[in-house]
Amino acid sequence: MITDTNRLHIAIQKSGRLSDRSRELLEHAGLRIQTGKNRLSARVENFAADLMFVRDDDIPTFVADGICELGIVGLNVLEEFTLGQDAALEVLAELGFGRCALKIAAPEQFDYQGLKSLDGARIATTYPNLTKRYLQQNGINASVVKMSGAVELAPRLKIAQFVCDLVSTGDTLAANGLRPVETVLESEAVLVRTTKPVSGDKTVLLDALLKRIQGVLATKESKYIMLNAPENALARITEILPGVEAPTIIPLAGNPGHFAVHAVCQESVFWETLETLKGAGASGILVVPIEKMMI
Ligand code: ATP
Ligand code: MG
Repeated sequence: MITDTNRLHIAIQKSGRLSDRSRELLEHAGLRIQTGKNRLSARVENFAADLMFVRDDDIPTFVADGICELGIVGLNVLEEFTLGQDAALEVLAELGFGRCALKIAAPEQFDYQGLKSLDGARIATTYPNLTKRYLQQNGINASVVKMSGAVELAPRLKIAQFVCDLVSTGDTLAANGLRPVETVLESEAVLVRTTKPVSGDKTVLLDALLKRIQGVLATKESKYIMLNAPENALARITEILPGVEAPTIIPLAGNPGHFAVHAVCQESVFWETLETLKGAGASGILVVPIEKMMI
């Protein structure tokens, strides 16, 4: 299928945090994907394109080599790949999902005094290039230990004093007695294209698909979210609400210290988000569609 020269090839993660949303985006762009996600590739029934299901780490290589014209991958994986080399890749759009941050974390009991605490230390990470660049930019002399997984265990195993790892809620770090101290990179899934030459026929397909994807991104459904919360939970809740800058906070009549929070979420609101909000102290959470909006 890879040799099919008249079809576009799109690389997405086979199974993992980005798989479902990547498929969904392509489906919203009108692509009818033929098979389940356990196979290595799938044909699109109603568009001249094939999907390649691969490890996320391989997506930048596939796209940079021009084997796939398009790919969906975390900015973290992409930047780790492109750092220090002239890769034939271009980021076309930020996709608004797969949000996380690459952070340096220290043991909870460690008396962290800012970046200078990292001087001379060992930092374990699966992102050595990004970590080294960050240290270099900040004039810190530390050594980076590359691991391929289970980075959070490094301090306990005395492999390193610090870790540099992906964080979304911070729960995994906390469960391992670590807390984030510095942010190296804010990340989300991005759409990338190859900058290798694409044959004439495929350019037309590529342009058509990109237009559709841009359309999907532009009309991404916003939601209106309403919930109640005690005062001490407001800061955390505001932080969790996806794509919200300034929520409306209204005191609840007859319930001192309790507030209603109303906000427009410009990103999808998932059950996981609601569970996290509930865990942070929210109750009576309502998510309603917005019919029209003028900014
Ligand atoms: P693969 O088998 O494809 O190599 P993986 O285990 O490397 O999968 P996942 O854990 O599925 O990758 O994460 C894929 C991407 O999801 C990450 O590179 C990152 O961009 C994003 N992501 C979002 N939140 C998190 C998080 N809390 N931890 C790790 N990655 C996250
Ligand atoms: Mg991976």
